[in-house]
Amino acid sequence: MPAFICTTCGCQYPATEAPPAGCLICQDTRQYVNPAGQAWTTLPAMRRSYFNAFRQIEPGLTGIGTFPSFAIGQRALLLRTAAGNVLWDCISFLDDATIAIVSALGGLAGIALSHPHFFATAVEWSRAFGNCPIHVHALDRDYVTRQDPAVNFWDGDTLELSPGVTVIRCGGHFPGSSVLHWAAGAQGKGALLTGDTLQVRPDKGLTFMHSYPNLIPLPAPPVQRIADTLAPWSFETIYGGWWERVIPANAKQVMARSVTQYIAAVTGG
Ligand SMILES: [Zn+2]
Ligand SMILES: [Zn+2]
Repeated sequence: MPAFICTTCGCQYPATEAPPAGCLICQDTRQYVNPAGQAWTTLPAMRRSYFNAFRQIEPGLTGIGTFPSFAIGQRALLLRTAAGNVLWDCISFLDDATIAIVSALGGLAGIALSHPHFFATAVEWSRAFGNCPIHVHALDRDYVTRQDPAVNFWDGDTLELSPGVTVIRCGGHFPGSSVLHWAAGAQGKGALLTGDTLQVRPDKGLTFMHSYPNLIPLPAPPVQRIADTLAPWSFETIYGGWWERVIPANAKQVMARSVTQYIAAVTGG
């Protein structure tokens, strides 16, 4: 039986004879149902026309993205550490070449997701790499499209995956929306891997939305909470969820400026 993948959001569902009646991610206010009608694909079908490309972002950090672009077009980040590799966020497409390359780079000790929009085919990735755990914040449990024993629903405000590699729950975009703090990133100044919990804008500022495609902003209090949550953490660089969504330097100052600007905008200041 095929495990169907929604072509609009890229999330995969459990194997069934017929496609699901609808996509719970796309029916949510943060996303949208394909105006041409809900459509589905499968990994075997995708393998006829897609491939993954790899790019070293900085030493120890490799981006993995699908070409041509699929669904919302995010790229995942493979963080390589002495304590094991972490895949931060996930992409839908997975093939033998990707498995061989990631294995050669040390495989995966775990997959950590900023929020359910990037769940993609995380269960397939887990199975390809020894049923490694898939870390999702428990507050987002109901949005996981393919439940599996590998999914580790974690509670609380932080999850330390290894020394210097910590998932931090910020909330906002989703109740469990999280970022990953990598203390050794950016030449030891610290890097944040943010998905779209913090969304890098084209002008290299940051924004914080309930829905990005539908342009529904967050109110001020959850944005202030994100700022307060990240205040104790040092970081120089922010890697968002797409190739070009990067703030290379002074990201801590950019964050402070962007929060002030954002809260002024939504409170009429
Ligand atoms: Zn969908
Ligand atoms: Zn999202």
